[in-house]
Amino acid sequence: MTHLFAVWDRVARLLAGAGRILLCLDYDGTLSPIVRDPAAARLAGSTRELLRRLSASEKITLAVISGRGLEDVRERVGLEDAIYAGNHGLEIRGPAVDYLNPSARRARPVLRAAVRKLDRELAAFPGAQVEDKGLTLSVHYRRVRPPDREPVRRAVFRLIAPARSRRAVRVGEGKMVIEIRPPTPWNKGNAVNLLRRTEARRNPEGLLAVYAGDDRTDEDAFRALGKEEITIKVGSPGSKTLARYRLSGVGEVREFLRRLKP
Ligand SMILES: [Mg+2]
Repeated sequence: MTHLFAVWDRVARLLAGAGRILLCLDYDGTLSPIVRDPAAARLAGSTRELLRRLSASEKITLAVISGRGLEDVRERVGLEDAIYAGNHGLEIRGPAVDYLNPSARRARPVLRAAVRKLDRELAAFPGAQVEDKGLTLSVHYRRVRPPDREPVRRAVFRLIAPARSRRAVRVGEGKMVIEIRPPTPWNKGNAVNLLRRTEARRNPEGLLAVYAGDDRTDEDAFRALGKEEITIKVGSPGSKTLARYRLSGVGEVREFLRRLKP
């Protein structure tokens, strides 16, 4: 995988030749450094200023695509005219797009009820945290004392079992976290394709997509975009990815945005 700045002249020519650029950026680990408490992941003022200038350009459509809830990421970035995709693209809103995944819409009452039940049930376990992202929810149990972690897991699976068995929700597990989602395979790749179609309708000539992200979930977007577009994995040289280029971290992403400046 090539470092983006090692081939910058070639990439710069591609960008200059494009009729329109759809600039898609992940938030955590891409625009904002990863921090222990996700609530504290702020956008640097200088990064916001760079994004503001880019999105004001006639040639660039800016989209921030995150696993966070849409309102959460919108508040953190704070730019009026950008597109925001929350919950890995289940909800997308911007000046020319308003999308809510139908499966996510149907699952909403089930998730609302689950949040209430989980809050009540898990109150007995100090440190258990129910994170309500609107269309999805996560139960974190890293801060629960070790002997109580397995009981917490069991309580969550028991509570969600009826909804799960009638396929009203999907359940996934990560490190000390259980994620409860609508039963749809819709991902960041689908979100990017939807944005490309929207952009192509407005401006069919020479649309070039750029996507930068550091997460496993960004791989879906890299796959969707393929070799013709500019896909950038944010991370160390060893990291396995479908992206064509690499940047080492948030600092280099900022440098990239500086270079993009119209
Ligand atoms: Mg990320």
